[in-house]
Amino acid sequence: MSLQEVIIITLIILFSGNLFGVVYSLIVLKTSVFAKYRIQTKPYKKGVFMERLPLYLLNLGLLTVFAVFGVYSLYDFFDTELPSIWVFLGQLLFVTFIDDVWFYFAHRYMHQNKYLLKKVHSIHHRAHTPFPLEYLYVHPFEWMLGIIGTFAGYLLILLVMPLNIYAFWAFALLRNLHEIHIHSDLNLPFLKNVPLISPVEDHDVHHAKLNGNYASTFRIWDRIMNTRFKE
Ligand SMILES: [Zn+2]
Ligand SMILES: [Zn+2]
Repeated sequence: MSLQEVIIITLIILFSGNLFGVVYSLIVLKTSVFAKYRIQTKPYKKGVFMERLPLYLLNLGLLTVFAVFGVYSLYDFFDTELPSIWVFLGQLLFVTFIDDVWFYFAHRYMHQNKYLLKKVHSIHHRAHTPFPLEYLYVHPFEWMLGIIGTFAGYLLILLVMPLNIYAFWAFALLRNLHEIHIHSDLNLPFLKNVPLISPVEDHDVHHAKLNGNYASTFRIWDRIMNTRFKE
């Protein structure tokens, strides 16, 4: 597989995931299809999508640049053959774990450090009543900070074996869908009981109350560190 092919497929995956986020958000905001699953009762602010659009586009642009740069620098270390199921799942779970640890501690620090909270993280917290695309409504510095955990996971894998391109693509898509999911403000029946994974309420309450529930994927971090939201 050539470098150009890997870049094009990576960008197709990223744009498909984000396009799904746009369509999903517009359905949530403009129709009542999902209304009965909403966690919060507050109505969405009028015109919120268009108001947020410039920052969504800026962060998507940054994501594109980082994805191309990332693939370009990792290309020589990719294994482009179809992996065994164990290599695929092992790499996918490992990157998810490292990325999630990074997210928890970086996110919690942004709440503890009042300067970062006021100047950077407060942008994301303008969304008290989130909808799927709000994962893109973050200060560009925070957006880039989030990529560090993912890259750390890839680099740690590369210390022992080549990074499989299919695990890389699967993580890119699942990470995107997960971000869409935790900002959806929707308690969808078929997704709310997946074991270990933080339910949507956790991050939803974090947005509504600005305190506690710092985990993204695995809620166990808030339990171990005693940072669950308390009334
Ligand atoms: Zn936060
Ligand atoms: Zn959020």
